[in-house]
Amino acid sequence: ATAFSTAVSAGKALNAWIVETPEHALAAADAADADRAAGTLKPLSGVPLGIKDLFCTKGVQTTAASHILGGFVPEYESTITAKLFAAGAGMLGKLNLDQFAMGSSNETSAYGNVLSPWQRAGSNAAMAPGGSSGGSSSAVAARMAPGATGTDTGGSIRQPAAFVGISGIKPTYGRCSRWGVVAFASSLDQAGPMARSVRDCAAFLEQMAGFDQRDSTSLDLPVPKWEVGLSGDLRGKRIGVPKEYRVDGMPAEIDALWEQGIAYLRDAGAEIVDVSLPHTKYALPTYYIIAPAEASSNLARYDGVRYGERELPDGANLQEMYAATRAAGFGPEVKRRILIGTYVLSAGYYDAYYTQAQKVRTLIARDFERAWATCDLLLTPTAPSAAFALGDKSDDPLAMYLNDVFTVPSSLAGLPAMSVPGGLDAAGLPLGLQIIGKPLDEQGVLNAGL
Ligand code: GLN
Repeated sequence: ATAFSTAVSAGKALNAWIVETPEHALAAADAADADRAAGTLKPLSGVPLGIKDLFCTKGVQTTAASHILGGFVPEYESTITAKLFAAGAGMLGKLNLDQFAMGSSNETSAYGNVLSPWQRAGSNAAMAPGGSSGGSSSAVAARMAPGATGTDTGGSIRQPAAFVGISGIKPTYGRCSRWGVVAFASSLDQAGPMARSVRDCAAFLEQMAGFDQRDSTSLDLPVPKWEVGLSGDLRGKRIGVPKEYRVDGMPAEIDALWEQGIAYLRDAGAEIVDVSLPHTKYALPTYYIIAPAEASSNLARYDGVRYGERELPDGANLQEMYAATRAAGFGPEVKRRILIGTYVLSAGYYDAYYTQAQKVRTLIARDFERAWATCDLLLTPTAPSAAFALGDKSDDPLAMYLNDVFTVPSSLAGLPAMSVPGGLDAAGLPLGLQIIGKPLDEQGVLNAGL
């Protein structure tokens, strides 16, 4: 591709990894050799994966890219990583991310910015890999790993996948266990795979999904054989194009990408229909009330006693120790979320903000339910822009939040949604198309992405 920078060969220069664990990947490779000799190969035997540093890994430091979890070494394995390892996969290391998965550019990490392996034609500006799964997107795009785990609360699998020209799917809420995944906003958090092809995503997701008694919102349903179910044939499928996603100020190239996507799906036999999702414009403010509210509650556990680092100024009492630990341990974006969340949950404002946001969330979910009467899948751009340069939006939280405009509605509704590469912009940067499906229709989503 035109814009691949020399950073690809520089490897570590991308800063995608927080910890590298080559011994883990090598052990999986050895086990794969033994399994091959014995005729007992597993679905992912020997496949070396990157693991977002939000998944607890037994015996391997898990930081959520924060100082407050610095040096935290879990004594347990997350359900997702345990399942991947049981399927034969190995771990190359823990991947950098936005701190506690809060961000859209990987710039909120306490471990430094991750670089995208892409650059704009004719420019040396370091580009954001998207976020929060920016280490995952960068590592997969730079061919450092054939696949990586991501998590997606409001777009953190899809937007980074779009920014670097790979595929990533957020399954239906409840498909993948949240057990052992550091919590951000529990009613929204979902894990999923990021990989270079839709087929690889299907294969990885099959090993990640499934019922888990230890997650109370886990869906007790069989995991379909998504990979063998891929056909690419969309005859008889109706693809909805939601008019409210044509937002003001959307660059012409995003419009052109969308038209291209419509043409791809039509060529594969689909019928294109116009649909309306009238509450779309409320999704972003609703998300940025609910997600911080849940985050403020989830992050209350980091008190300097139970996990990670502690700040204990001379003569400090318990309360002062909590305050000093949290002041030093959380980055500015995480503090911003905790403050917003605490405010919207406070006695005087709970009804005005939190309750109201929950009601609007229901209206957004109903928009989708109504749309399914006239279509089987929805097609939209993944993000309102191509990747931006590091530093472009880091001083302006609202500009950063606006980049999530197309990914948060399906998160609020718990729907499966995927980003696939859709083309390049004028500067040679990748653009992503998003496919949103009905609850549990990962197969339809993957098939349209193929
Ligand atoms: N960018 C969004 C946020 O900052 C989504 C993050 C995510 O999905 N984890 O909240």
